Amino acid sequence: MVDSLTPEQRSAVMSRIRRADTKPELIVRSLLHAMGYRFRVQMKGVPGRPDIAFPRRRKIVQIHGCFWHAHEGCATFRMPKSRTEFWQAKFARNKERDARLEQMAHTAGWDVLTLWECELKDEPLLIDKLVDFLGPLKVNT
Ligand SMILES: [Zn+2]
Repeated sequence: MVDSLTPEQRSAVMSRIRRADTKPELIVRSLLHAMGYRFRVQMKGVPGRPDIAFPRRRKIVQIHGCFWHAHEGCATFRMPKSRTEFWQAKFARNKERDARLEQMAHTAGWDVLTLWECELKDEPLLIDKLVDFLGPLKVNT
């Protein structure tokens, strides 16, 4: 059962977001905060020290930069034209690491939601994704 926000709730959330935050993790953190979710940042003891963790829900939200994590099929990702082999190897290592950490988190019983930097622009969609993943907000907690 998934509770979606009403359009009114959603615009209330969006109006509380501070536009000055431009870093991807900060965008998502302000959004979650405005939505009323409480979370831990870079929590120790969770594989990869994820950006955002919800210990009681046992869920993790991680934000991947499209460049460093080589987002496949992404309009904003371009393979660098010089030192291409170096970059290809680097991206392959990053992807391997991402997959390994995600597997470790799953094994330890955490659900993982990966958000890409390019997905953060569509706020209504982002809010829906977060609510779908996290489940309804418990009021007064
Ligand atoms: Zn992307």
